[in-house]
Amino acid sequence: AARALAGLGAHVTVVDGGDGDKQQAAGRELEEWAAAQSASGKGGGGRRAGGITVRLGDGATLPEGTELVVTSPGWKPDSPLFAAAAAAGVDVVGDVEIAWRLRGPDAAAWLGVTGTNGKTTTVRMLASILAAEGLHTLAVGNIGTPIIDVVLGQGKDGARPYDVLAVELSSYQLHWAPSLRAHSAAVLNIAPDHLDWHGSMAEYAADKGRIYEGNTVACVYNVADKATEDLVREADVEEGCRAIGFTLGTPGPSQLGVVEGILVDRAFVENRQKQAQELAEISDIAPGSGPPAPHNIANALAAAALARAFGVRPAAVRDGLRAFHPDAHRIQHIADIDGITYIDDSKATNTHAAEASLAAYEHIVWIAGGLAKGATFDELVQKSAARLRGVVLIGADRALIREALARHAPDVPVVDLDRTDTGAMPEAVREATRLAEPGDTVLLAPACASMDMFVNYNKRGDAFADAVGELTARDH
Ligand code: ADP
Repeated sequence: AARALAGLGAHVTVVDGGDGDKQQAAGRELEEWAAAQSASGKGGGGRRAGGITVRLGDGATLPEGTELVVTSPGWKPDSPLFAAAAAAGVDVVGDVEIAWRLRGPDAAAWLGVTGTNGKTTTVRMLASILAAEGLHTLAVGNIGTPIIDVVLGQGKDGARPYDVLAVELSSYQLHWAPSLRAHSAAVLNIAPDHLDWHGSMAEYAADKGRIYEGNTVACVYNVADKATEDLVREADVEEGCRAIGFTLGTPGPSQLGVVEGILVDRAFVENRQKQAQELAEISDIAPGSGPPAPHNIANALAAAALARAFGVRPAAVRDGLRAFHPDAHRIQHIADIDGITYIDDSKATNTHAAEASLAAYEHIVWIAGGLAKGATFDELVQKSAARLRGVVLIGADRALIREALARHAPDVPVVDLDRTDTGAMPEAVREATRLAEPGDTVLLAPACASMDMFVNYNKRGDAFADAVGELTARDH
């Protein structure tokens, strides 16, 4: 955001309350970039680069003369700097708002996706479907290329302009994007997550609901998750915009659903003689990755709904789902060793996601723990207890899970490694293997964020896969 805005001529002050090595290195990099830009006379739109100043160690006072604050998701909404901005009548926005304001007259339509879980998967499925239709598209937002760069690059240097963007939007980004108006958007599900940031479940849901505001064609909701439907009802949309549901059951009118293994559309039916339009078979979803878990069928239906709202043909839905490959660390099969299956669902960073993956297996040794982000684990443990062969706990907030297990699954053996160091994963995998019996699944689905032990969930998943690779015959 700093580079994009300086490139457009703004004078940018980058503020970070910390002043450790990491902040200093990042600050130096930005200042050097800005110095090189002004030396070469570069700047967007024929303007001179405005320059970047870095201020470290003070995250509370508003730099003098500030006209706009652009925040990063790491800053909580109650940060003192934002209170200072509000007192001075200065807007606070996020990167998505900037991208939305900067998009040009030939801008691509935005199809938005949010939800507690399944955003990345759905956005990738959607981009794959749109591409199968022959549209020029990209999965952007809380994923891949920064959306500001995509918007500013639209049609530049002879590049073919995008027809449509599949935009993943986090609750943080939506919180700070007041004027965003998508063509169509989906809220996949809402479960407690990031409550330490949003303050309450109601505020978290309201931020998610922002994605529907001003939609022109369709608001896509999850029939099985009433909270998503409530958000559609509360949203202020353009006239003619439709509420479209998706369900794993038989679809009603204005819904997409599943009938005898076939994804069926009853919302966008071209032929008025027909009541429903067949789109694809369940087995068309990422063939080669095994039978899709129920939540991925739901994600496919949501992606299909958005694509159909954009006018995509049924055959392209099928072709796009066939061409889709799941990302790593999302229920990723790692190995089968001596009858035990090892699955990496490191991306299960909250209880709702872990619940979905725990529901997908019969007998599980569960590796869990990390940063709880204000979550509680009673419901997850209650729902999953019958499937648990054993549990191995790692990470900072493991006591919360241990206590929930003691309350609701007192007979399940628990190994609390009492470790928060990166090197704990091999021991966790060895302990899990010891608890497992042939036919069981060792499942890394931590239900927590990873940053207490790892740089991110990717590194946590990689550590798991490496540890599985190191297992020797002795461990069985
Ligand atoms: P996000 O981008 O929202 O974090 P991902 O597609 O990366 O979502 O998936 C995150 C985690 O949530 C994975 O662990 C996956 O198993 C689980 N998951 C994916 N889709 C759903 C869904 N629709 N409902 C519940 N859990 C899901």
